[in-house]
Amino acid sequence: MDKKYVANTYSRTDVEFVRGQGSKLYDSDENEYIDLGAGIAVNTLGHNYKEWVYAVNGQLATLAHTSNLYYTAPQAVLAKTLCERTAMEKVFFSNSGAEANECAIKCARKYSCDKYGAGRDRIVVLKNSFHGRTMATISATAQDGFHQHFMPFLDGFDVAYLNDIASVKQAITDKTCAIMLEFIQGEGGINVATEAFITAVKELCEAQDILLIADEVQTGIGRTGNLYAFMHYGIVPDIVTSAKGLGNGLPIGATLFGKKTANTLTYGTHGSTFGGNVAICKGAKVVLDTLDEDFLLAVDKKSKKIIDTLSECSGVKSITGKGLMLGIACDDAKDKVQTLLSKGVVVLTAKDKIRLLPSLNITEQELDTALKVLKEVLL
Ligand SMILES: *Cc1c(COP(=O)(O)O)cnc(C)c1O
Repeated sequence: MDKKYVANTYSRTDVEFVRGQGSKLYDSDENEYIDLGAGIAVNTLGHNYKEWVYAVNGQLATLAHTSNLYYTAPQAVLAKTLCERTAMEKVFFSNSGAEANECAIKCARKYSCDKYGAGRDRIVVLKNSFHGRTMATISATAQDGFHQHFMPFLDGFDVAYLNDIASVKQAITDKTCAIMLEFIQGEGGINVATEAFITAVKELCEAQDILLIADEVQTGIGRTGNLYAFMHYGIVPDIVTSAKGLGNGLPIGATLFGKKTANTLTYGTHGSTFGGNVAICKGAKVVLDTLDEDFLLAVDKKSKKIIDTLSECSGVKSITGKGLMLGIACDDAKDKVQTLLSKGVVVLTAKDKIRLLPSLNITEQELDTALKVLKEVLL
C-alpha cells in the first residue's frame, strides 16, 4: 500500500513500528527494539512520556487550534521559557526545521535591507551543511547532491569550510548579511565546530555587523548536553533555529531572535497557519521543563558511557560528536545498521558513519542492552 500510494521519496527500512514506550519500540510482529534514533533526534523524552502525553491530550480536549490572529497562552508561555533559557528576546513559531531556517534567512535579509538598503543580502554557509528541503534551505545546503533536479536554486549563498576561518574570510564580501552554520553538522557526518573557529566567526560577525545564524534544529533541546549547543562556545548567536527535539514528536519550529533581530520581522512580513499550535506548545513546555541542570548532566554521563564502551571496539575508527549526538566511523556503516536492526537496535547513519541520537532520558538499562549489541557488531 505504502509503495503504491505514498510518494517514493524515502528508501524505507523493512519494518513497521506500531508502538513505543520509553526508548523501546515494537514492530507489527511484537519484536522489541532499543531506539537509538529517537525518530531523527525528535523524541527527546522517548515514547509515551506521561507528562507530555497528558499536557498535549489535555490541550487537545480543551482547544486544539486557533488562528495566529488571536492570543493563546501556551504559545506565549513557551516563547517566554525559550527566551529566559537562552537570553534570546523573541520567538517566531513554525512547523519544522526548514521553516525555522526560512524565517531566519528572511529575517537576516530584512535586517540588512532595513539598515543598509537592498543588495547586502548574501549568506555564507558551510560545506556539508544541511538546512532543510525547501527551495531556500536546499539552496543553503552546501552539498552537491542536493543541487540537482530543481533548478533554478536561490541565489545568495556563498560556501566556506567548517573549521577553516580563512575560507570564511574569503567568502565574506561587502554584500554579506549573515553566516549560517551548525555547531555539529548532523546530516553532514557529525562534524564538530572547534571553539577557536566559532570564536573567530563571531569576531568577524561583530566587526562587520554580519548576523550569526545558528541552525540548532538537530543540536538543540539538550542534545549535546546543554540546552543549545551554542552554550558550549561562550557566544550568543543573533538568530537560533530550533525544531526536531522541541516537539517530542509533534511538528514545531522555532526561530529565536537576539537583541539585534528581535524587532526585524514586523506585522505582515511573516506568518504561519499552524505555527505554534497550542497543544504542541503545551507539550514543548514539558520538554523544556524536564531538561533541567541534573537532566543535562545525565546526558553527559550517558555520552561518556557510550564513548568509553565503544572506543574499545576494534571496528570503531573514531567517535565524533557531543552529548547524545554521536557519529561512529566504521566500515560498511549501512550494512551494520541492518545487522543492528535485526538484533533489536535502531540506529541511523550520517554520511558513512553510524549515528546515534537516542532519547535523552534513555535509561541506563536500555543503554546497556543496546551497547552490548553494538559491541558485538562493532567488534
Ligand atoms: C533536520 C534538519 C533540518 C530540517 O528540518 P525539517 O524539520 O526536516 O524541515 C534543518 N537543519 C538541520 C541541522 C537539521 O538537522
